[in-house]
Amino acid sequence: MNKKVITKYEVIIIGGGPAGLTAGLYTSRAGLKSLLIERGIFGGQIVNASQVDNYPGFPEGISGFELASLMQEQSVKYGLVTINDTVTAVKSGDKYSVITMEGNFESEAVIIAAGSEYRKLKVPGEEEFVGRGVSYCATCDGFLFRGLDVAVVGGGDTAITDALELSEHASKVYIIHRRDQLRAGKILQQKALAKTKLKPIWDTVVDEIIGENKVSYLSLRNVKTKKISKLEVAGVFVAIGLEPNSKCFAEIVELDKTGLINTDEMMATSAPGIFAIGDIRKNSPRQVASAVGDGATAALSAFRYLRERS
Ligand code: NAP
Repeated sequence: MNKKVITKYEVIIIGGGPAGLTAGLYTSRAGLKSLLIERGIFGGQIVNASQVDNYPGFPEGISGFELASLMQEQSVKYGLVTINDTVTAVKSGDKYSVITMEGNFESEAVIIAAGSEYRKLKVPGEEEFVGRGVSYCATCDGFLFRGLDVAVVGGGDTAITDALELSEHASKVYIIHRRDQLRAGKILQQKALAKTKLKPIWDTVVDEIIGENKVSYLSLRNVKTKKISKLEVAGVFVAIGLEPNSKCFAEIVELDKTGLINTDEMMATSAPGIFAIGDIRKNSPRQVASAVGDGATAALSAFRYLRERS
């Protein structure tokens, strides 16, 4: 698309995870000319989940991929236009300009649902060995480590869920955590600590990921004793939380110090007509069910905002 082309919409939604797709379903059904821009796979992080058991309406559970596909199908059915493109900035004027790699779009209201991405360890070897032993998704890559020793870094719900999942494939799963207490919920902790295949390594950080063509060992440091050690593993799963994809919105809406977008309970940001939903907003419970609720709330807020402007 030519950069000079401006296509006009009433609402532009940035991000096609459960929050964005739900917002698009609601705005389209309300008769608003709506565009959803997604830079990757529709469905966002949920497509990596092999099984979603806590989304209401599916008592037997459903795969994340299937759930995302159904959400997309439903919103498109009601007239939502979806495209694959990357948003680089949002500029204000009489209307908002949403600037992408491929073109410029104009809209009266904008709903930011751009989610978050995996936080990186930022240690030597991490980037180099992605896909060759370093992974951020146990569900996607766990089966590659059948019968091998692996490590999970982190102590939150994701790390422990990943460790439990990996114990189905790997022969041993080390959980490397920087403190001596897990952050994960009690039930998950109990499940993990009862498994003999899982071995926590407390008060420890990864200083380097080392190998030839693929990961062969980690250089570890005990943060209390300062002792350096070597741990032989074929894979390392980094599960240390998420970073919001909010950099390109920093000039248009107010962010908190961790980069999350501040909103009120109606999903309104500091900029009139811009709403933020899902993992990218402050205080998000980061659940599919809550993302969907955010999407519906933001769509109703956008509808009200547009009605008051006209
Ligand atoms: P999280 O709760 O933020 O936990 C991140 C973990 O990584 C913490 O243990 C933290 O250590 C550690 N960490 C952070 N930065 C680090 C660094 N640079 N080096 C080493 N360790 C580092 O993230 P999460 O586990 O991805 O969970 C995110 C949200 O999703 C949470 O609200 C969680 O409840 C939810 N979730 C729920 C489920 C479930 O219910 N089954 C599953 C997955 C996620 P400290 O503890 O020392 O800070």
